[in-house]
Amino acid sequence: MRWKAAIFDIDGTLALMNKAEGTFTALPGAIEAIAACRAAGTRVVAYTNGTFFPPAHYYPLLADAGIRIEPGFLLTPAAVAAARLRDMGYTRIMVMGGDGTTVPVAEAGIEIVAPTPDAGPVDAVLLGYTRDFGATELEAVVQAVWDGAKPFAGSVAPYFASSKGRMLGISGAIAAALENATDQKVTVFGKPETAGLDMVAALTGADPSEMVVIGDDPKLEIRMARRAGAHAVGVTTGISDAAMFASFPEGERAHEVLPTLETFADLLKAPA
Ligand SMILES: [Mg+2]
Repeated sequence: MRWKAAIFDIDGTLALMNKAEGTFTALPGAIEAIAACRAAGTRVVAYTNGTFFPPAHYYPLLADAGIRIEPGFLLTPAAVAAARLRDMGYTRIMVMGGDGTTVPVAEAGIEIVAPTPDAGPVDAVLLGYTRDFGATELEAVVQAVWDGAKPFAGSVAPYFASSKGRMLGISGAIAAALENATDQKVTVFGKPETAGLDMVAALTGADPSEMVVIGDDPKLEIRMARRAGAHAVGVTTGISDAAMFASFPEGERAHEVLPTLETFADLLKAPA
């Protein structure tokens, strides 16, 4: 076996989400690439950088698109953030985010404070994807940080690939607003930070050098893989074309760039 674990991005890599319908469509070769990994003895992990849903919501949606992920082997930045914040000793945090963020935080045993004017002091704030906010919520989060809370986010990606093109990364936009107002840097747990790969290591027993990371974003999956010392494979089915992947310095570049996952299985046979 060439790699012990294959970590696939979801949006733009395995599938495209139709935001209006809440469904996924598998991208060419995605189902076959997963099957090839399993045949080779490589554990398959899906790691999205979106926090639209709690991890549990993705399994049936992806299964409807023919993409079957083992229970516990689907990660989101919110799930990574929740585990990390718990390990850092936070017990009560203000969350500005939807179910995709609040569910993993609650499951980690952390008390959630809603971003309201009378929220009272908190030690940390966590930003996740939500469309359900206004000036009141934004002001509450900013006030909490002005009052000393540490700011965190699952992801600060500027946008995601969707079936309708670029979709705004809301928590990235909120993080920019928060940094603008407070001069405090928001700490990120999602890609390209390597915290998610630590969770993969715990799940699979694989060292990063025994992992292959596959994604459509050179700034996210490829950067995460190269930072951790994993093998990095880019695909041009999402937000980046081949020229974009090639524009990065050699040490931050994907080891291979594929037009689709249809030829991914060939890499599993290549000599390490
Ligand atoms: Mg993607």
